[in-house]
Amino acid sequence: MSELRSALDELAALDLAELTDDAVLDLVGELSTVANRMAAALTSAVRVADRREAYRRDGAASMKSWLRGSCRLAPEEATAIVSTGRRIEQLPATAAAFAAGEITAAHARVITRAMTPGRVTKAAEAGIELAETDVILADLARKTTPHETKQGVKRWVAGIDPDGTLGEAADVRRRFSMADGLDGRVHVRGEFDPVGAEYLHTALAALMNGDRPAGDTRSHAEHQADALVALARGALDGGSLPDVRGERPHVRVTIDWRALCAARGAPGVSGGSLGWAGPICPETARRLACDAGVVRVVTGPDGLPLDVSRAQRTATAAIRRAVEIRDGHCVFAGCDASPEWCDVHHVVHWAHGGPTSCDNGALLCERHHTACHEGGFSVSRDPGTSIWHTWRSDGTEVLSRAGP
Ligand SMILES: [Zn+2]
Ligand SMILES: [Zn+2]
Repeated sequence: MSELRSALDELAALDLAELTDDAVLDLVGELSTVANRMAAALTSAVRVADRREAYRRDGAASMKSWLRGSCRLAPEEATAIVSTGRRIEQLPATAAAFAAGEITAAHARVITRAMTPGRVTKAAEAGIELAETDVILADLARKTTPHETKQGVKRWVAGIDPDGTLGEAADVRRRFSMADGLDGRVHVRGEFDPVGAEYLHTALAALMNGDRPAGDTRSHAEHQADALVALARGALDGGSLPDVRGERPHVRVTIDWRALCAARGAPGVSGGSLGWAGPICPETARRLACDAGVVRVVTGPDGLPLDVSRAQRTATAAIRRAVEIRDGHCVFAGCDASPEWCDVHHVVHWAHGGPTSCDNGALLCERHHTACHEGGFSVSRDPGTSIWHTWRSDGTEVLSRAGP
């Protein structure tokens, strides 16, 4: 490994601008082959660690999670390396081409991905030699791009699995994955068997049933996404889920105390973070900490927790009921979203001493709760009445309205 490192150091020290066109093109070709060989070596090493369950040394649950944690690989990259490593073992010709740097990791993936156990068995039953297929596909990969190789792989699949029933479905009959998209978004993928899908669809349809508030321009897909989140929130808020390490499970937000007390958009304020999904902006962290049964962890200047509690921030059932009766629907200007879609917002945030009370509560749908925390809007109520005002961040009023 030390020789490899010094070779790389030498390479890094090379003045590329000095090279002739011929020399630079030769170098690119050479490096591309070396990169393939490195990728093959990485895949083999990962396979050995995977088979021995070496990742357990560091407390990881799988080789995939070890790669994500220790090498900071994107989830799909970690998955690809682990599964290529597992399946390429039965394909010596492809493995040899990869090890020699003749094919890329993408070629190896395209070939191994198609080699599900169901298809391999079916091919054997049909008298198609796996060894022969391996040689043909490895040869194809040497001469074509991964995309073109994929077409060849598809022809092999079509020959032994014409109706596609032995595809990934035979390998994993249902799956649901959530992957961090590196852009602050989380990508969800999956497939279900008909019965599982029926349960999911029935629950989502129930949450999507009912009149949509005026001005609700969400697409069906957006509406369905909201319903899925509402399903999870309902289960967490309702306390029907099993305890995790002796605690009632709920979303946990970590927020710096300065961020908690700072004005919206204040400069130099760090955001908060969620246990799984990672960093969020300070406004979003404050909204989460405002309402819902979210567990908040407030950290001090040294980053250590000052306070971990769920306190009384969640409106008790009685307070919530009273606020629902008084407000009737979301109190934001022009919105009629019904109470079941609403949070009880703290008009004066609890971080600034606002109590969890009927007086300090305001019914806001999720969209307008977001508008108040992230969008700079605010709402206020004339004392002793149910007349609500909606304010822009510049202090001008959008509209005032009476309660139900
Ligand atoms: Zn709020
Ligand atoms: Zn609303």
